[in-house]
Order: sequence, then C-alpha cells, then structure tokens
Amino acid sequence: MINFEFKKSLGQNFIKDDNIINKIVKYSQIDKNTLVIEIGPGAGSLSKKIIPLSGFALLYEIDTRLKDILNDQLKNNDNYEIIFGDFLEQDISDIKNKYGYSKIYVVANLPYYITTPIITKLINDIYPDKIVIMIQEEVADRLSANYGNRDYGMISVLLGSRYTIKKLFKVGRNSFIPAPNVDSAVISLDKNDRLGNIDGIKFEKFIKDAFQFKRKNLKNNLKKYNLNLIDEILKKHNYSLSNRAEDIPVEIFIEIVSNI
Ligand code: SAM
Repeated sequence: MINFEFKKSLGQNFIKDDNIINKIVKYSQIDKNTLVIEIGPGAGSLSKKIIPLSGFALLYEIDTRLKDILNDQLKNNDNYEIIFGDFLEQDISDIKNKYGYSKIYVVANLPYYITTPIITKLINDIYPDKIVIMIQEEVADRLSANYGNRDYGMISVLLGSRYTIKKLFKVGRNSFIPAPNVDSAVISLDKNDRLGNIDGIKFEKFIKDAFQFKRKNLKNNLKKYNLNLIDEILKKHNYSLSNRAEDIPVEIFIEIVSNI
C-alpha cells in the first residue's frame, strides 16, 4: 500500500484500525448460509475477515489497480469472486437465484460519494436481509433518526418502512488513510416486513408529498388526499393534521397509506 495513490474521486479512505474492522465483522453476524456482498473492498482488510465466515462473497471494486493486492490478501480463500467495475452499473437482480443462498448480507465501508444510490440499488434490486455499512456520520444520523428528531425525514421513513435501522458506533476520521474531512459511523439495517402488501411506489409518493415542504404541516402538504380519513387515523394515535410529517412515526404512515 506504501506507493498507492489514493483517489479522492473514488472515495478511497481505507480503514487502518483493526478494532473497527473486527467490530463491523462482529455486528454483521455472517455465517456459512450467508452470501455476502461487499462494495469497495479496497485493499481487502475487511474482505479477508468476512470471506472465511461466509458461504460465498461477491466483491465489487471499481479500481483495477487494486487487483494484485486484493488477490494477494485473499489468496487463502476460494469462496469469493471479485467483480471489477462500477457497482452501480452491475446487474445484481439475479444474484439470489444464481447463488442459491438463503440469506444475502451486505457488509461494506462504502465510497461516500455514492452512498444513497448504492443503498437504493441494493434495496430495489435485491432487498438484502441485512446491511452493515460504514457511511458518513451525518448521513447515518439521517437514516437512523426517529420521529420527533430533527434528522428525521423522508429517507428515514422510506428506509424505516423496510428495515429496522440502528446506528452502531461512531468512527473518527483519523481511523482512515487518508483521513477524510468528516467523521463516520457504522449502521445496521435489518429487514422487516412492516410495509406488508402495500405498494412501495404508492408509499414513496405519499411520503414525498408529506415531507414536500418541511415547514408546512400535514394539512397543507397533503391537500390532494382524503384529509378526513387521514385525520381520523392521526387522531386515533393522538396526532392531527396540524402536525408536521417529522412528528409522525413510520407505523402511522404505513397505516394511513394502507387505508387511502
Ligand atoms: N473496504 C476498504 C476499507 O475499508 O479499507 C475500502 C473502502 S473505501 C471507503 C471505498 C472503496 O470503494 C474504494 O476501494 C473504491 O475504489 C471503491 N469504489 C468507489 N466507487 C466505486 C464503485 N462505483 N463501484 C465499486 N467500488 C467503488
């Protein structure tokens, strides 16, 4: 790694602290029935601990300069494949059938410049059973925020309707080479079935409308819906149309959308 020229444009901040890697591995609870996906293995410091625990691992790395070091770091394993290319351009929708594992987990220290597109692709194309990722702390706070918290927004509700999300621990910027300008955090997302039979597109549309103007209350943001019906459901839970979307728990949004 000594002569490696890190590319900022590819979000290349590699973990240098083994304790952090061990904690990520512990929280990910991988076993031999798990197909693991890692996006951005870098020099393989996380991969080499994940692969021996998993049934099979798929690693997606955009930077071909890392080929030799990755092959060398992972040479004692045979249950993995590295795909060199942009993860966002890969067809991953068939992975479950192709590899036949009962569980798909994603474990990664993500390239921060594409955190949201990666998460969106994963959920739309595979809907993994568990995701344990290191991301920018500020984003971690938004994704894992609960109602009533100032970070709670559209993305917290959309993700919260499919996953139980926890911020696990913070990681200071000095744990990376090179050190980024921001601190990081590791979060876990465990699949839940809260959304049930509700049409995901209908739910997303409603949540976007509810949060459209952050300072406006639900009555103003949801004018085009049946406000009487929404008010009835809100009142049952001691809320009203004068609340803002940021006050409302995910379960109540789900109840509303299943009734409108
Ligand atoms: N896992 C390593 C670690 O923790 O030390 C490296 C993590 S580093 C934050 C992000 C990695 O993602 C880099 O290796 C980078 O080359 C890779 N990467 C960036 N954009 C990518 C993309 N679109 N598809 C796949 N990998 C990408």
